[in-house]
Amino acid sequence: MIEKRDFYINGQWVSPAEPNDFEVINPSTEEPCAVISLGSEADTNAAVAAAKAAFPGWMATPVEERIALVEKLVEIYESRAEDLAQAMSMEMGAPINLSRTSQVGAGSWHLRNFIAAAKEFKFDAPLNENAPNDRIIHEPVGVCALITPWNWPMNQITLKVGAAAVAGCTMVLKPSEQSPLNAMIFAELMDEAGFPAGVFNLVNGDGTGVGAQLTGHPDVDMVSFTGSTRAGIAISQNAAQTLKKVHLELGGKGANVIFEDADEKAVKRGVLHMMQNTGQSCNAPSRMLVQKGIYDRVVSEAAEVAAKVEVGPADKEGRHIGPVVNELQWNKIQDLIQKGIDEGAKLVAGGTGRPDGLNKGYYVKPTVFADVNNQMTIAREEIFGPVLSILPFETEEEAIEIANDTPYGLTNYVQTQDGARANRMARALRSGMVEMNGKSRSAGSPFGGMKQSGQGREGGKWGIEDFLEVKAVGGWA
Ligand code: NAD
Repeated sequence: MIEKRDFYINGQWVSPAEPNDFEVINPSTEEPCAVISLGSEADTNAAVAAAKAAFPGWMATPVEERIALVEKLVEIYESRAEDLAQAMSMEMGAPINLSRTSQVGAGSWHLRNFIAAAKEFKFDAPLNENAPNDRIIHEPVGVCALITPWNWPMNQITLKVGAAAVAGCTMVLKPSEQSPLNAMIFAELMDEAGFPAGVFNLVNGDGTGVGAQLTGHPDVDMVSFTGSTRAGIAISQNAAQTLKKVHLELGGKGANVIFEDADEKAVKRGVLHMMQNTGQSCNAPSRMLVQKGIYDRVVSEAAEVAAKVEVGPADKEGRHIGPVVNELQWNKIQDLIQKGIDEGAKLVAGGTGRPDGLNKGYYVKPTVFADVNNQMTIAREEIFGPVLSILPFETEEEAIEIANDTPYGLTNYVQTQDGARANRMARALRSGMVEMNGKSRSAGSPFGGMKQSGQGREGGKWGIEDFLEVKAVGGWA
């Protein structure tokens, strides 16, 4: 059992003001794997005070020096990649292979993209060549609360910390209480990289404790949050009391539109993408929209692919999916699968209960429903488990209508070999991101959603801009 109770405040590891132990459960075994402490208001205040005191000095630090520290951070980050991956797999259940590659790997890409983007970014420049006396200056927003979830933890932490650091903001990170260990390793890396005391602080805690204290704190200038839409709404309300800048990366219910001329790998790719990270991704393609002419064939293929997805513990090597993160999520997913059955969707793979031979651990059967209509609960709610819904459509217009008929707007996917149609779809789909024919967006492109999937964009220059205020100066001499 790992014991890690201290917080990282003002460049030092410090004991919590009041003991408040919290057991982290390994979802592969249902056994406790670590004890952390949840912070109190005194800890939150100490971290915010440290960030506030460090802000003027960090803001005045030349951007080249800030970038150099992030460069040092990436080197150290990559040298500790295995520690990060092991911690993550243990506390949130991602298979070790996924933790090493996509999960921890994403952190390196983001940090490297921020370095490249910051080197190009015009932090301070004349408005244009015709207005030499008008100057546009980008200044850091100030003290930022960074609140992150457990599902892609290093991805989300690096997206926020990397951008805030090069922008010149100081910060207090509150990771999910479900996945604190990899965040605490990350704080060790920040310390080793040599960021000045108070620039980066970490306090563990839950949403209603440290989370709410940070989002309501008068000395916090901005909240950058990734998590559920429910918590995003609560945070917006709380932050409104002091009119903080709020950045929200929230849930999704992505459509994957498969036209009759889709390439032959499209169905398998769509099912496996849905199952990745055990379905616990905000951009999961959870609604597969299939054109009528290929519908029956796609349903059987999707069921076959899902039936072959192996499920197992996170520390097992190889390609499989792990457990879901905790008992609460397991129960919620079971209820939603049952609702799918009760509301008349056709179960073609998986179902309720644990997969054979996995009686301990929060394992869910890779599940596929066919004949889903878009008003059913499984088509409307973000399930956050390995559950795919297949919906039929006839025309391009109908596909657009179904895809857009959701409160979310994070990522949609299109599979067709007709380039003109793919481009029409990309314009018509109301989401922050559209990915076509299995081609991911490049690292460094903006990540974020429309509608109830959030506001603001992370990654590359867009991520840096989010942590900046724009100042217009007239009469520059
Ligand atoms: P969650 O909203 O329960 O918690 C996320 C974080 O917010 C945690 O650190 C939690 O302690 C904190 N929190 C919760 N309530 C809070 C409150 N009222 N005030 C302040 N902080 C609060 O989400 P989760 O279960 O950890 O993560 C899953 C959710 O995150 C899913 O809905 C998923 O779609 C979303 N997500 C979105 C993105 C994206 O970029 N759009 C990425 C990953 C995950």
